[in-house]
Amino acid sequence: MAGSFETRRPLPTVRIRKLQRDRVDFVLENAELSFANSFRRTMIADLATVAIDMVEIETNTTVLADEFLAHRLGQVPLISANCEEAMNYSRECSCSSSCRFCSIVLSLDVACTSDRTMHITSNDLTIVPPSTEEEMNGSEDDKVLKKRPSNFGLPYNRTSEGIEPILLVKIRKGQELKLRCIAKKGIAKEHAKWSPCAAIAYEYDPHNKLRHTTHWFETDERAEWPLSHNAKEELPPADDEVFNYSAQPERFYLDVETVGSLGPKEVVNRGLAEMQKKLGSLVHALTTAGQPDTIEHDMAMAPTLPQTNGFNPATTTYGGPVAAANVWGDDAAMSSPGFGGGGGSGGDGNLGANSWGGSSSPVWSPK
Ligand SMILES: [Zn+2]
Repeated sequence: MAGSFETRRPLPTVRIRKLQRDRVDFVLENAELSFANSFRRTMIADLATVAIDMVEIETNTTVLADEFLAHRLGQVPLISANCEEAMNYSRECSCSSSCRFCSIVLSLDVACTSDRTMHITSNDLTIVPPSTEEEMNGSEDDKVLKKRPSNFGLPYNRTSEGIEPILLVKIRKGQELKLRCIAKKGIAKEHAKWSPCAAIAYEYDPHNKLRHTTHWFETDERAEWPLSHNAKEELPPADDEVFNYSAQPERFYLDVETVGSLGPKEVVNRGLAEMQKKLGSLVHALTTAGQPDTIEHDMAMAPTLPQTNGFNPATTTYGGPVAAANVWGDDAAMSSPGFGGGGGSGGDGNLGANSWGGSSSPVWSPK
């Protein structure tokens, strides 16, 4: 029946068509429209990254106003790998304004003394190491810092060869820019600069068999609405094909393009984990309905839960007992169950071991 998972419904699968440094193109099958679209929106707006949030300008004699520069700095993608666990939200941190667990300080100090036009780019941003005093005070939280890669917080282009630095402003002789930035963790619902995705191309039913789209055309619909490359994946409708009003979309084509702060693999895996966390919270709230004490307690506790996306890979939540398959293998064109399965030891040990479907009685444990 449409709108619900049947027990015999095949498990959702993912087939990766193209995997590059900053993008992944894949086909999601046997999923529902609502799931696919939620997944897309979660990847765009709900994943934590690091971005410059405060700029203290000491000297600015460039042609750009302070606000203009601060806006440009905010949109420089900073390496945010494992940000979900390796950094605190400053609003949840125990410090008064900022500390090394919730902030990364970057500085920039450039002056032009030559007669040639000089470019100030993201290459001029350097990370200011935390003071020794702060380091000693925070020793009990060192495990959080250990989850960060060595290049955490650096502009994306600085750690990957072949990527041009981001131009911030051009200066001439006698002009100078000196500033200090504080980068913080956030999500794109708050500000688009925290989105790990530049764009997500999304399509289903390329032949419009389901008639979810009404094509406006003058003389020839097929000529005026050329098919996308995804149309090769599905059979075109026969001329005399009867419209199936109960058909549902089951195959979705997604092309996730990242800005570099998170890799495409992490964006997809974290997107699933984040959805699982949200749905888990909902299931938990519904199953404890009528127990006001429990709900109040859980709601009060929620912001302080460890940032593990609310699920423990060792105690599978939405899934069957099958070990998860890793869809991120060396063979980018392979077809294998992606969201199916689950279990504690699957995949690459990452959050890709999530499971969707299989079990008709989801259980979520906040423990
Ligand atoms: Zn802090």
